[in-house]
Amino acid sequence: MLNRRLFIVLAASHVLAVAALAADAPLKALIVDGQNAHDWQATTPVLKEILEDSGLFTVDVATSPPRGEDMSGFKPDFAKYDVVVSNYQGAEWPEDTKQAILDYVRGGGGLVIYHFACAAFPNWPEWNEMIGLGGWGGRNEKHGPYARWKDGKVVLDHSPGRGGGHGPMQEFALDVRDPDHPITKGLPPRFAHVEDELYGWLRGPAKNLTVLATAFAPKEKGGADEHEPILFTVRYGKGRVFQNALGHLPEQLKSVAFIVTFQRGCEWAATGKVTQEVPDDFPGPDKPVVRD
Ligand code: ZN
Repeated sequence: MLNRRLFIVLAASHVLAVAALAADAPLKALIVDGQNAHDWQATTPVLKEILEDSGLFTVDVATSPPRGEDMSGFKPDFAKYDVVVSNYQGAEWPEDTKQAILDYVRGGGGLVIYHFACAAFPNWPEWNEMIGLGGWGGRNEKHGPYARWKDGKVVLDHSPGRGGGHGPMQEFALDVRDPDHPITKGLPPRFAHVEDELYGWLRGPAKNLTVLATAFAPKEKGGADEHEPILFTVRYGKGRVFQNALGHLPEQLKSVAFIVTFQRGCEWAATGKVTQEVPDDFPGPDKPVVRD
């Protein structure tokens, strides 16, 4: 009886603690999913948990109808949120939803493009301008240049070729290219990530683009022998867009390099600032760190 009572008291206080945490979380995030050639059903709950673990966000999810079904009723209320995270790659949204996301970001909203969401909407020019760089979906030189890191700066490369690609899964490290940006401030200059897809050949309008971190993709591991942009931002109207190309599946989302850059990028997209400290388990250059 005593044990049971103790359990009830502990359970009740836990509920209160969780409720208090949620009430204190000042920022509202919306994850959009529902179609994606990647396993969005597996990754969205992990992304949600990572954001909630920061203590900064409450998170809702807007799931579209499945591929091939009528999309006309898919109208998330973007304006209610501080940041919208796209885990979506699929059919184009209805016209008013497309207009709503553009208006939301132009008006000062935050947008985060996670991993394969960069492949969405290849033939929607305003979207491509908003996300800066994308891949796949038939993207090529008509969609804009590659953004290469050369001699300490971004060099736009208009040569013809595919948009988007990667070699086999491999461990790699990211090099910080803008150590003064709120997202990267305080991170070590090079930090290791787990085995993952190293996205390359991304291309797009690349306007108002800031490259925060790159990874070198060697030819012998299926890359372009270039320093590929992996973390970058775009200024679009009054809004802030952040892309994180990491994180193929939940296994890769355990990497502290992903967790921390995603949390910081979402806070920056929401507010323009980052209040989170760099955690003690953040990796250095040689060895990735995972959280289970
Ligand atoms: Zn992937």
